[in-house]
Amino acid sequence: MALQTYYKYIIIGAGMHGLSTAYHLSIELKLRGRGSGKDILVIDKTAIGAGASGIACGVIRNNYYQPAMQELIEHSVRVWEEDAEGYGYLPVGYMQISPEIMHKDVNEIYERQKDIGYESEFVEGEKDCLDYMRQNIFDDWQAENVTSILHEKRGGYAHNTRALYRLADKAEAEGVRILTGVKVVGIVSNGNVSGVETTKGTLKCDYLIVGAGPWANVFWEMLGMPGSVPVKGLDGKVHPDIRMWTYWSLQEGTLGVQPTYGMANNGKMPPVIHVDSDAPLYSSEDKSLITDEMWGIYYKPDFHFKGIQGGSAPNRVENKEVNVDPYGIDSPDFIVGPEFAHTWTSALAHCQKRYEDKYGRYKKEPSGGLGAFSPDNFPVFDVLKGNCYLIADSSHGYKMIGVGKLVAKEIMGEKQELLKPFRYSRFEEGDLLPESNSPFPWS
Ligand SMILES: Cc1cc2nc3c(=O)[nH]c(=O)nc-3n(C[C@H](O)[C@H](O)[C@H](O)COP(=O)(O)OP(=O)(O)OC[C@H]3O[C@@H](n4cnc5c(N)ncnc54)[C@H](O)[C@@H]3O)c2cc1C
Repeated sequence: MALQTYYKYIIIGAGMHGLSTAYHLSIELKLRGRGSGKDILVIDKTAIGAGASGIACGVIRNNYYQPAMQELIEHSVRVWEEDAEGYGYLPVGYMQISPEIMHKDVNEIYERQKDIGYESEFVEGEKDCLDYMRQNIFDDWQAENVTSILHEKRGGYAHNTRALYRLADKAEAEGVRILTGVKVVGIVSNGNVSGVETTKGTLKCDYLIVGAGPWANVFWEMLGMPGSVPVKGLDGKVHPDIRMWTYWSLQEGTLGVQPTYGMANNGKMPPVIHVDSDAPLYSSEDKSLITDEMWGIYYKPDFHFKGIQGGSAPNRVENKEVNVDPYGIDSPDFIVGPEFAHTWTSALAHCQKRYEDKYGRYKKEPSGGLGAFSPDNFPVFDVLKGNCYLIADSSHGYKMIGVGKLVAKEIMGEKQELLKPFRYSRFEEGDLLPESNSPFPWS
């Protein structure tokens, strides 16, 4: 099919945000009689799901200390629920299992979940937590120092690429064109954006949407935005020269046992388990001390990854120059190594007896990947240059399938309260999202 050289809307990136925006924008245009999916072109330099969305573990949770994130995720969970089967969404729930230092923060999360109607249960006290886990979830539960459990009854996880292909199918059914193997190499702008330069020539548009995940910084630079920004911290002080985008290497892997090995007491899929702990972590191999500082892991049985899949807290990438390409499992620099395998499998053994001798079953295949993070590690959803919508989610965003729906409404001129806390101006104005006591940068 010949490529038109003008589309009203061009979307860069066929990941979760690009595809969700494409589909929802096509619906908004149709409902308002302002056009159709035929006005939209999605461009991806590689393929659908070639970025972070295609390797994400797919966990969907509301467990956030920031009220704005909780409300935004509640909206997204409703979008997952609209087409659960189509998106491969498994609403098995999610558990945040915490030590005393996080008790108060998680209690606040629970209280807000009640306020926004997000169904969950909160268990407190060491004995009650142990009983709750052994009686309701896993009878071999043995994690130490657990004094609170937040059990979210909604959320869970989704089969990562299935949701993307479903969104792509729905968008194409509305007339959206998805063009893969074409790279955007420049943005044409004279004040406002008027198009993009690609490896197949210049394409014009009235409105540009960028959903480039870990490549956010590339487009930030193309848009002429500053590499460093002043940030007014939560302490009220202005820090004049903070790097806008930094990188964290996400640590994930799979234990090569049958997914059924990880089932709950009732033989069914358990909730996604997330444990943060201040108990010393010992090697399940040789009993040596791995760490006596805070650590955290998450895991779930997963038929897509063919085993028990999960991860641990990410590592901050300190180098100034970061090669995002080649991305994901093709990266020589940002895949997990033996240290992750040892720590994560030992942590599994710390939590459940059935994993005590399973280190050798860890799958030695490349996994993990990079994420690009803003100064407060939360998303930036904002319009730059008057007609360029940047969706840069600071690696929170596989679960955020609903962001594209809100962005589509904003493009139609309807401002969305749920997106307001994520504007770029918050850094200078000091309107940052609050920090929790979790060892993860995104909790
Ligand atoms: C290992 C890992 C596990 C994760 N697990 C979870 C999880 O469990 N739950 C969760 O909510 N989030 C998770 N995340 C975060 C989540 O994956 C991302 O936040 C989200 O997928 C980002 O979606 P996106 O659409 O913005 O970007 P991406 O999915 O990265 O898509 C961006 C696309 O842009 C394309 N592109 C880039 N540059 C160009 C160019 N110049 N021209 C054309 N196209 C271009 C890329 O090819 C890519 O396909 C995880 C991330 C990683 C790395």
